[in-house]
Amino acid sequence: MGKSGAVDDVMRAVRLVAAGEVRLVSEPRPLPGPGECLVQVSAVGLCGSDLHWYAEGGIGDARLADPLVIGHEAAGVIVAGPRAGQRVAIDPAVPCERCEQCRAGWRNLCPAVRFLGHGATDGALREFLAWPEHLLHRVPEQLTDGDVAMLEPLGVAVHAHDLGHQHLGDTVIVVGCGPIGLCLLQVARAAGAARVLAVDPLPHRARAALDLGADAVLPPEPAAFAAALAEQTAGRGVDVAYEAAGPDAAVSLAVEAARPGGRVVLAGIPDSDSTTFTASVARRKGLTLALVRRMTDVYPRAMALVLGGAVDVRRVVSHTFPLERAADAFALAVAREGLKVIVHPTLP
Ligand SMILES: [Zn+2]
Ligand SMILES: [Zn+2]
Repeated sequence: MGKSGAVDDVMRAVRLVAAGEVRLVSEPRPLPGPGECLVQVSAVGLCGSDLHWYAEGGIGDARLADPLVIGHEAAGVIVAGPRAGQRVAIDPAVPCERCEQCRAGWRNLCPAVRFLGHGATDGALREFLAWPEHLLHRVPEQLTDGDVAMLEPLGVAVHAHDLGHQHLGDTVIVVGCGPIGLCLLQVARAAGAARVLAVDPLPHRARAALDLGADAVLPPEPAAFAAALAEQTAGRGVDVAYEAAGPDAAVSLAVEAARPGGRVVLAGIPDSDSTTFTASVARRKGLTLALVRRMTDVYPRAMALVLGGAVDVRRVVSHTFPLERAADAFALAVAREGLKVIVHPTLP
């Protein structure tokens, strides 16, 4: 960037330099381009997708080229301009707004999308970032910085729920009770599910699911799962199975759980970039599968759900770290020891 000198122009950032290695660096603050605002970042949630970047040095077919700042679930404060001082949620996706998908309202499917903390676009684990002004959603005072960061994964849950075409009185299951699954089960409940089942092999996550409103948690072993599912649904299966884990074992449970004619919504990201399930089980039931790509324009709805009390995002957050302890935050998140891990690049 060729800027030098003044301490004011410098900031701290956490860069992923190789798989499993993040480094705290000092570097120039970004300069906002046309239509952009400088934002001081207050909170960043670590996402499952960040953990793929961290653990594998990439995600899907995207690979780490140069050291990258990851993190896209972000809250901050606008630093300068007419909106200076506003607390905002940062929508991490910059779609082109011109292609067929964008014009049809599917901004998440834009082939030209730029995404915070992905590919060559630095993310939010730094003290300042510059981002298009229209993607900074003003948030009310009663939301904490952590709450605001949680609006992004909640948004993914809202989008996944939309793809489930769930009806009032449906029975649903959430397979995988990480942060997105814990948001999903609350969204499904708020949307009028009669019964919300959940499954997760980790005891603390299964417990969190019950705490946040699941009616029952099923055992993850296939035989025990089938028996418990039959008991919970009177042998019928669920109308909608939401999968928010990634591994084939989770996808298989979701496919197993759905009733004939039911829907399976896949939100998880598999480690191996491939998904396998038993075709005959899905085929004989004539299941409809929907795959989740991030989210559409759901920030206002996600915010309304939190403000109205339908979804408690605060209890989905289990750990917080300052920026200089980002390495510890990643280690804890990768070990799946907690729920949502949040890093605070700057503190109020
Ligand atoms: Zn995410
Ligand atoms: Zn587009």
